[in-house]
Amino acid sequence: MSDLMPLEEALRIVLESVKPLDAEKVFIYDALGRFLAEDVPSDTDKPLFDNSAMDGFAVRFEDIKGASEESPVPLRLVGEQSAGGEIAPKVEKGTAVKIFTGAPIPEGADTVVPVEFTEVKEDTVYIKKEFKEGANIRKRGEDVRKGDIVLRKGQEVRGYEVGMLAFVNRAVVKVYRRPKVGILSTGDELLELGETQERPSQIRSSNHHMLYALVKEAGGDPHQLGIAPDDPEELLNVLRTCHNYDIFITTGGVSMGEKDYVQYLVKEVGVEVRFHKLRIKPAKPVLFGTYGENKLFFGLPGNPVSCAVAFDLLVYPAIRVMLGAKEVFKRKVSATLVKDFSRRDAKRREFARAKVWFEKGKFWCEPHPKQQSHMLTSLIEANAYMIVPEGVKELKEGDEVEVVMF
Ligand code: AMP
Ligand code: MG
Repeated sequence: MSDLMPLEEALRIVLESVKPLDAEKVFIYDALGRFLAEDVPSDTDKPLFDNSAMDGFAVRFEDIKGASEESPVPLRLVGEQSAGGEIAPKVEKGTAVKIFTGAPIPEGADTVVPVEFTEVKEDTVYIKKEFKEGANIRKRGEDVRKGDIVLRKGQEVRGYEVGMLAFVNRAVVKVYRRPKVGILSTGDELLELGETQERPSQIRSSNHHMLYALVKEAGGDPHQLGIAPDDPEELLNVLRTCHNYDIFITTGGVSMGEKDYVQYLVKEVGVEVRFHKLRIKPAKPVLFGTYGENKLFFGLPGNPVSCAVAFDLLVYPAIRVMLGAKEVFKRKVSATLVKDFSRRDAKRREFARAKVWFEKGKFWCEPHPKQQSHMLTSLIEANAYMIVPEGVKELKEGDEVEVVMF
């Protein structure tokens, strides 16, 4: 087991080998889920002008002092100010302007009385409550000043940030490029979607489609290369294309079998292998190498669950770094085990598929009954990996465990 690398060391090697990609300018919708490569300043003061926070009447504070239900103050209505409408006349002593939310405060007025505290009779409005000077007015620049940074470099663009970009009149923004990821399944036994089974030994390939989706979910730009047979020449031809991608992922053919060629062939296409086997379960046979400038090669195991685990633990953070994310790992929480868990071999750190939920103020964890690496159902019926540390054979109901959410 001494040749198996601990996960921490493998992660350190991966993270040392990767940095954010170059930036590109994209339409703000395409920035969603990506990370800003520039600071974004506000184009104007926000709000741009003093405006009303309520539907009501713009008045002079001096005029409405002492107004109450019993002794309402009458003010002559001299106009109306809507949001986006023509500018209303000045509010002189003893007058008011009807006003709507978001409308600019007319000259002369300094306070807005909400419509609920007024009554209109012909061209007079009766104010039935006193308000503080400046009440119900949103002041120019009280949110941000022109030139203030509203979004910072490195920030994730969510829906709110898209809103802010539009608010400061930005249609285009600089974000880090998505990594271009080439994806290849390898194996003589693999059938493509819809392909007819010709020999009983053939199986349906799921991995390259799963990986396509996982890469996309992670924020990468997946490129589907399909299936290559266990044939060195054909494999080599596809592997040579790795230079067109920032990340190249293969699945299968990276273990101890005679037909597991990937580990040898990658060297011929310029990949420097950095590690091959990890002290984790599942996904022991994971090959990682670097090539070119900031380019990564991952040879993932063929078993679908191992392939997914290796992706989540190693490829996902690499994609996130390239995207410019600060937080590159999936969320880890502590949960209480609701069921005993045991295993025979405790040499490797295990990532057991589990169901985790939040109830009564904490997280609970139930390991899935199927833990073999070819059983894809264990991923479908789970939402987390329960971490079983090296050396631990048994966990008891009530124990606290660390889980990685997916
Ligand atoms: P290998 O690492 O190539 O020996 O593959 C390990 C196991 O995973 C074998 O049972 C393969 O048939 C299976 N396998 C390999 N590639 C895929 C794939 N793309 N989709 C589903 N199963 C696969
Ligand atoms: Mg194979």
